[in-house]
Amino acid sequence: SDYVVGVSGGIGSGKTTVTDLFAQKNIEVIDADVIARQVVEPNTPALNQIVKKFGPNIVNSQGQLDRAQLRKLIFAKPELKNWLNDLLHPLIRQQMLEQTQQAKSVYCLLSVPLLVENNLVNLVDRVLIVDVEEQVQIQRSVLRDNSNEQQIRAIMQAQVSREERLKVADDVIDNNHDLGHLIPQIDKLHLEYLALADLTK
Ligand code: ATP
Repeated sequence: SDYVVGVSGGIGSGKTTVTDLFAQKNIEVIDADVIARQVVEPNTPALNQIVKKFGPNIVNSQGQLDRAQLRKLIFAKPELKNWLNDLLHPLIRQQMLEQTQQAKSVYCLLSVPLLVENNLVNLVDRVLIVDVEEQVQIQRSVLRDNSNEQQIRAIMQAQVSREERLKVADDVIDNNHDLGHLIPQIDKLHLEYLALADLTK
C-alpha cells in the first residue's frame, strides 16, 4: 500500500478489536508486536547477536529467545537496554516499511502500541488513536489479562498519557461504549481512508 494508517492507543484501549474490524473489510493489518518477535526468531542475525552478548542460556532448547529472562537482565540497566534498542529498532522499522509497502489493500493499517513513545509517527501517513477513559481501560485490561489494577497502572505509567497521544491524532475512535457504537465509526473512517488513499495515486 502507498497509504499507511498508524493505529495506536494505550494498553487495553481496543487496538486489536478495531484492527480486526478493518481486517473484515479486507484491509491488511501489520502488527508491530508481531514484527518485534519476527526479527529475533531462531537463526536471525539479531538473535545471534543477543546470544553473543548475553550467553547461550538466553535461548531455550528450541532456540527461541527467552523474553522474560531478557527483560529481567536489562531491567534497570540502561546500557544493556540501549544496546538492545539500537540493535532491534532499526530492524523493526525496516520491516514495518517493507511489510506496509508489500501490502496489497488500497490502504493498510500499521498497529503500533508505542507509536508515540518510539517516535514512529513520521513513518505513517495518518494517525488513528483508539481512545478510552482510564477507568474503562483499567477495567477491560484487568478482565482480559487476569491481572490487578496496580499492574495495569504500572504499565500505563510507562506509556505516554492519553493527552499526549491525542495530540498526534488525525482521527480518534471513541471506544468507551459497545460494539454497536464502534462499528459506525469504523465504517466512516474506512470510506475516508479509501478516499485519501485514492488522492495519493
Ligand atoms: P493491548 O495493547 O493491551 O494488547 P488492545 O489495545 O489491542 O490491547 P483489545 O485487546 O482490542 O485492546 O481490547 C482489550 C479488551 O477489551 C479485550 O478483552 C476486548 O475484548 C475488550 N474490548 C475492546 N473493545 C471493547 C468494547 N467496545 N466493548 C467491550 N469490550 C471491549
